Amino acid sequence: MDLDTAEAVIAPHWDAVRDTYVEFAPEGSGGLVRLRKTKFVMDPEMHDSPRHFAACREDGMMMLFAPQLVDLPVETMVAILAHEFGHAADFAYPAHWVMPGSGPGTARWVGEQDSKQWREWRKAWRSRTRDQIEWTADGIAQAVTGRKIGYCGEVGCMLQCFDKGQLRPAGLR
Ligand SMILES: [Zn+2]
Repeated sequence: MDLDTAEAVIAPHWDAVRDTYVEFAPEGSGGLVRLRKTKFVMDPEMHDSPRHFAACREDGMMMLFAPQLVDLPVETMVAILAHEFGHAADFAYPAHWVMPGSGPGTARWVGEQDSKQWREWRKAWRSRTRDQIEWTADGIAQAVTGRKIGYCGEVGCMLQCFDKGQLRPAGLR
Protein backbone atom coordinates (compact mmCIF):
# COMPACT_ATOMS: atom_id res chain seq x y z
CA MET A 1 0.00 0.00 0.00
CA ASP A 2 1.38 3.43 -0.86
CA LEU A 3 1.90 6.10 1.76
CA ASP A 4 -0.98 8.33 0.64
CA THR A 5 -3.48 5.48 0.79
CA ALA A 6 -2.22 4.39 4.23
CA GLU A 7 -2.47 7.98 5.46
CA ALA A 8 -6.04 8.25 4.13
CA VAL A 9 -6.96 5.17 6.21
CA ILE A 10 -5.17 6.16 9.43
CA ALA A 11 -5.79 9.94 9.50
CA PRO A 12 -9.54 9.92 10.33
CA HIS A 13 -8.90 7.61 13.32
CA TRP A 14 -5.96 9.77 14.38
CA ASP A 15 -8.16 12.90 14.17
CA ALA A 16 -10.86 11.26 16.28
CA VAL A 17 -8.43 10.15 19.00
CA ARG A 18 -6.73 13.57 19.00
CA ASP A 19 -10.11 15.31 19.41
CA THR A 20 -10.93 13.05 22.36
CA TYR A 21 -7.67 14.14 23.99
CA VAL A 22 -8.01 17.85 23.14
CA GLU A 23 -11.52 17.89 24.59
CA PHE A 24 -10.45 16.07 27.76
CA ALA A 25 -10.87 18.76 30.38
CA PRO A 26 -10.09 17.73 33.94
CA GLU A 27 -10.66 20.61 36.36
CA GLY A 28 -8.41 23.55 35.63
CA SER A 29 -6.86 22.12 32.45
CA GLY A 30 -9.07 23.88 29.89
CA GLY A 31 -8.64 20.84 27.63
CA LEU A 32 -5.37 19.38 26.36
CA VAL A 33 -5.12 22.08 23.69
CA ARG A 34 -1.35 21.76 23.18
CA LEU A 35 -2.09 18.51 21.33
CA ARG A 36 -3.81 20.50 18.57
CA LYS A 37 -0.30 21.27 17.33
CA THR A 38 0.87 17.65 17.21
CA LYS A 39 1.81 16.70 13.67
CA PHE A 40 0.94 13.48 11.86
CA VAL A 41 3.77 12.01 9.76
CA MET A 42 3.93 8.79 7.74
CA ASP A 43 7.34 7.12 7.95
CA PRO A 44 8.12 4.15 5.68
CA GLU A 45 11.21 3.34 7.79
CA MET A 46 9.28 3.02 11.05
CA HIS A 47 8.34 -0.68 10.87
CA ASP A 48 11.76 -2.06 11.82
CA SER A 49 10.47 -4.72 14.24
CA PRO A 50 7.29 -6.83 14.23
CA ARG A 51 5.61 -4.68 16.89
CA HIS A 52 6.91 -1.26 15.88
CA PHE A 53 4.19 0.73 14.08
CA ALA A 54 4.26 4.15 15.69
CA ALA A 55 6.36 6.60 17.68
CA CYS A 56 5.91 9.92 19.40
CA ARG A 57 8.60 12.60 19.52
CA GLU A 58 9.81 13.51 23.02
CA ASP A 59 8.06 16.88 23.01
CA GLY A 60 4.70 15.35 22.04
CA MET A 61 4.49 17.55 18.94
CA MET A 62 5.03 14.89 16.27
CA MET A 63 3.86 11.32 15.73
CA LEU A 64 5.30 8.95 13.17
CA PHE A 65 3.40 6.04 11.67
CA ALA A 66 4.36 3.02 9.59
CA PRO A 67 2.10 2.41 6.57
CA GLN A 68 1.85 -1.23 7.79
CA LEU A 69 -0.37 0.05 10.63
CA VAL A 70 -3.33 -0.26 8.25
CA ASP A 71 -2.83 -4.05 8.03
CA LEU A 72 -3.82 -4.38 11.71
CA PRO A 73 -7.43 -4.73 12.88
CA VAL A 74 -9.03 -1.29 13.33
CA GLU A 75 -9.47 -1.89 17.08
CA THR A 76 -5.72 -2.56 17.42
CA MET A 77 -4.88 0.51 15.35
CA VAL A 78 -7.05 2.75 17.52
CA ALA A 79 -5.59 1.28 20.74
CA ILE A 80 -2.10 2.07 19.39
CA LEU A 81 -3.20 5.64 18.55
CA ALA A 82 -4.65 6.02 22.06
CA HIS A 83 -1.31 4.86 23.53
CA GLU A 84 0.74 7.23 21.35
CA PHE A 85 -1.47 10.18 22.30
CA GLY A 86 -0.88 9.13 25.92
CA HIS A 87 2.83 9.76 25.25
CA ALA A 88 2.03 13.08 23.58
CA ALA A 89 -0.13 14.19 26.54
CA ASP A 90 2.65 13.13 28.94
CA PHE A 91 5.45 14.92 27.04
CA ALA A 92 3.44 18.05 26.18
CA TYR A 93 2.27 18.39 29.81
CA PRO A 94 5.39 17.50 31.83
CA ALA A 95 4.64 16.22 35.33
CA HIS A 96 0.98 17.26 34.94
CA TRP A 97 -0.11 13.64 35.52
CA VAL A 98 0.58 11.24 38.37
CA MET A 99 0.50 7.47 38.33
CA PRO A 100 -0.77 5.47 41.32
CA GLY A 101 2.62 3.78 41.82
CA SER A 102 5.73 2.81 39.90
CA GLY A 103 3.81 0.25 37.78
CA PRO A 104 0.76 0.26 35.47
CA GLY A 105 -2.50 1.98 36.45
CA THR A 106 -4.74 4.90 35.57
CA ALA A 107 -3.08 8.31 35.47
CA ARG A 108 -4.60 11.29 37.25
CA TRP A 109 -4.33 14.92 36.09
CA VAL A 110 -2.76 17.21 38.72
CA GLY A 111 -1.77 20.06 36.41
CA GLU A 112 0.90 22.59 37.27
CA GLN A 113 1.09 23.36 40.96
CA ASP A 114 2.77 25.94 43.10
CA SER A 115 4.26 23.64 45.70
CA LYS A 116 7.63 22.23 46.65
CA GLN A 117 6.19 18.74 46.29
CA TRP A 118 5.17 19.40 42.70
CA ARG A 119 8.57 20.88 41.78
CA GLU A 120 10.16 17.71 43.16
CA TRP A 121 7.78 15.61 41.10
CA ARG A 122 8.73 17.61 38.01
CA LYS A 123 12.39 16.76 38.62
CA ALA A 124 11.61 13.09 39.23
CA TRP A 125 9.47 13.07 36.04
CA ARG A 126 12.61 13.56 33.96
CA SER A 127 14.35 10.52 35.40
CA ARG A 128 11.58 7.95 34.95
CA THR A 129 12.47 4.55 33.54
CA ARG A 130 11.42 3.54 30.04
CA ASP A 131 8.83 1.16 31.53
CA GLN A 132 7.38 3.94 33.71
CA ILE A 133 7.07 6.17 30.64
CA GLU A 134 5.24 3.39 28.74
CA TRP A 135 2.91 2.68 31.69
CA THR A 136 2.17 6.39 31.95
CA ALA A 137 1.14 6.50 28.26
CA ASP A 138 -1.36 3.69 28.93
CA GLY A 139 -2.47 5.30 32.21
CA ILE A 140 -3.22 8.60 30.46
CA ALA A 141 -5.00 6.78 27.61
CA GLN A 142 -7.18 5.09 30.25
CA ALA A 143 -7.96 8.38 31.97
CA VAL A 144 -8.85 10.11 28.70
CA THR A 145 -10.70 7.36 26.80
CA GLY A 146 -12.21 5.53 29.78
CA ARG A 147 -10.99 2.25 28.29
CA LYS A 148 -8.24 0.01 29.62
CA ILE A 149 -5.21 -0.48 27.40
CA GLY A 150 -4.19 -4.14 27.45
CA TYR A 151 -1.61 -6.13 25.50
CA CYS A 152 -2.81 -8.94 23.27
CA GLY A 153 -1.22 -11.46 20.95
CA GLU A 154 1.82 -13.65 21.02
CA VAL A 155 4.77 -13.13 23.30
CA GLY A 156 7.33 -11.17 21.30
CA CYS A 157 4.65 -9.37 19.29
CA MET A 158 2.15 -8.11 21.84
CA LEU A 159 0.14 -5.13 20.63
CA GLN A 160 -2.21 -2.74 22.37
CA CYS A 161 -5.87 -3.71 22.66
CA PHE A 162 -8.87 -2.26 24.56
CA ASP A 163 -10.37 -3.78 27.71
CA LYS A 164 -8.69 -7.17 27.36
CA GLY A 165 -5.26 -8.80 27.33
CA GLN A 166 -2.77 -8.17 30.10
CA LEU A 167 -1.11 -5.11 31.60
CA ARG A 168 1.99 -4.01 29.73
CA PRO A 169 4.84 -6.33 30.73
CA ALA A 170 8.04 -4.66 31.97
CA GLY A 171 10.74 -4.58 29.33
CA LEU A 172 8.38 -4.69 26.30
CA ARG A 173 9.95 -2.72 23.44
ZN1 LIG B 1 4.88 3.68 23.89
